[in-house]
Amino acid sequence: MADARFKSRSFRRVAKRTPKFGSKMTFERRKPRKAVCAICGKEIHGVKNLLPKDLRKLAKSQRTVARPYGAYICSECLRKLMKEKARLSKYNKQ
Ligand SMILES: [Zn+2]
Repeated sequence: MADARFKSRSFRRVAKRTPKFGSKMTFERRKPRKAVCAICGKEIHGVKNLLPKDLRKLAKSQRTVARPYGAYICSECLRKLMKEKARLSKYNKQ
């Protein structure tokens, strides 16, 4: 019988092959969801989706995107946002 903590579905079930054509059920942590843009919901590239314990081992450049609002807003949305802000500030000066 499997350990009680593996009965919950927070672990996914993986059938693994054992020597001599046997099989064994193993349990693995589910992968976290991918980083998405806060405005359009598009997937953000260049950010690894791993558990926090594995993310800590990586370099910061692999965990985030090096730009303002990196890994939070996608490049297209950020471009639009910056243009909007620049245009608004121009009107406020006059
Ligand atoms: Zn976006």
